[in-house]
Amino acid sequence: MQAVGLRCIICHTMYPLDPLYECDKCHGILEVYYDFSKAKDPFALLPITSKKRISLDEGATGLLLAKNLSKRLGLKTLLLKCEFTNPTGSFKDRPVSIGISKALEFGFQKVIAASSGNGAASVAAYSACAGLEAIILVPDTTPVEKVKQTLAYGASVVRVTGPYSNCFSLAKEIGEKLNIFNLTTTFLNPYTVEGDKVVAHELFKQLNGSIPDVIYVPIGAGPLLVGIYKGFQECQQFHPFEKLPRMAGIQAEGNNPIASAFLHGKSVVCSEPNPRTIAGGIADGLVGYEKDGTYTLQIVKQSNGFVIDVADSNILEAQMWLLRDEGLFVEPSAAAGIAGLARSLKDNRIHKDDNVVVILTGHGLKDMGSVNIVGDVPLIQNNLDEFIKIFNK
Ligand SMILES: *Cc1c(COP(=O)(O)O)cnc(C)c1O
Ligand SMILES: [Zn+2]
Repeated sequence: MQAVGLRCIICHTMYPLDPLYECDKCHGILEVYYDFSKAKDPFALLPITSKKRISLDEGATGLLLAKNLSKRLGLKTLLLKCEFTNPTGSFKDRPVSIGISKALEFGFQKVIAASSGNGAASVAAYSACAGLEAIILVPDTTPVEKVKQTLAYGASVVRVTGPYSNCFSLAKEIGEKLNIFNLTTTFLNPYTVEGDKVVAHELFKQLNGSIPDVIYVPIGAGPLLVGIYKGFQECQQFHPFEKLPRMAGIQAEGNNPIASAFLHGKSVVCSEPNPRTIAGGIADGLVGYEKDGTYTLQIVKQSNGFVIDVADSNILEAQMWLLRDEGLFVEPSAAAGIAGLARSLKDNRIHKDDNVVVILTGHGLKDMGSVNIVGDVPLIQNNLDEFIKIFNK
């Protein structure tokens, strides 16, 4: 482990590797800081040793060449990083594996998290494995599949009225008052985002060192996007290459605080108090933690990328493309990345010869209510003639 401390992203004050959540001096986001000279490869840059790691064998996800979908979109090369194949069905297993490992190391018996459902299931699963008690706050609109999955692992789940931001601030308050380790997967906990970096380390390996031109990531607060960019920066330290990938952050039209700031040329993100989208995993309004959005925006700009928003109808269309073109079933938040790709191709934000990777963040089985399949499922007597009658129509 080459981590030497936590560092404020704004004023660069250093702190020890403790359970801290923001800079004392300026309230800036804290990040794990490493001594690169002692590491042999980027995979060593995690704030935990592999021996102490609580793992359900997350990561090492597939990278699929999407031949049919790329043809549909008129794109030369489209690769899909299948994060929905992680143990609990979303990429959140990566940050949570690191977070739960730190909780044990720090000696906490309880953890808390605000989540729109996927972080909830991850925290519950990894807590079960680590023997920790998990308390999860979810918005009352969270899909029943995600709530049941979280309960099934043995966590306590509390539904909170209003948008996700309410869960975020309540979990923060409870964590502080009752000294419970907070594993909310925004930029609050400085350790969790480190797990997201590994997506980039894996991509670098899977692509034999060739760097994608653009990487599409559906974003809430944005730690996954920032983690992936940081991960490529780390790869660059060990195996120098010229150009880092452009990062494309995708939001939903009904909750677009970061996209709106980007599209209006602002450098500071304002929160959205009333998010409205079917994509629950990215319905993150950022009320009370607007600085997270500002940080994500800054990284996107540094990468020469962009943040755009897409309509729910386009998200559902993209979900269907993945199902019918590629045989992949992802939840709306994940399909948003594909909808964003289609949109940005139309708007000439990227070139059709670009090498594109889209991160498919969560499994479709997690939100069945959003799947709108029209058409009956016929019921017939156990009889061949009846079957033929129906299928010869
Ligand atoms: C959490 C989540 C996101 C957004 O990731 P952030 O790191 O919070 O920006 C996207 N898709 C799914 C399915 C998620 O669960
Ligand atoms: Zn600071």
